Amino acid sequence: MDICSLCNEEAEVFDVIGEESIIKACALCSLRENLPHIKTPAPEEWKEAQRVRNVKERLIGLSKKQFSSQEKPILTSAKAEASLVDNFHWSIQKARKSKTLTQKQLAMALAEKEETIRDIELGKLPLENERVIKKLEQFLHLRLKR
Ligand SMILES: [Zn+2]
Repeated sequence: MDICSLCNEEAEVFDVIGEESIIKACALCSLRENLPHIKTPAPEEWKEAQRVRNVKERLIGLSKKQFSSQEKPILTSAKAEASLVDNFHWSIQKARKSKTLTQKQLAMALAEKEETIRDIELGKLPLENERVIKKLEQFLHLRLKR
């Protein structure tokens, strides 16, 4: 198991040809984005990946068509959000601005992706947010957990 670089989910990933480079993507993403595989997976591997994909699509009730290639699923976890203080995203933004840091600078200081910071400030939490929330609390001297 590995992490898909498109949906950030743990899955069987394949080397596929992305827009700029070779990336690792799960079967669901590589099919959705129509990305060619470098090496065709072994038939049993592929069958398993498609089985997982079918189960996932049924679970989330989305057909392939409903995903546009520009639109990645929002990774907000309602449960995680509920464990944070109200308006945590505004607090983060305010604290960042008071340090006169850009989102990019803050992301670099925390060794996180700029998109992660941007999404969090929009109130969109990544599913794996424990680590980044802890870093934000320490770096910005905030209490974000309820
Ligand atoms: Zn994926």
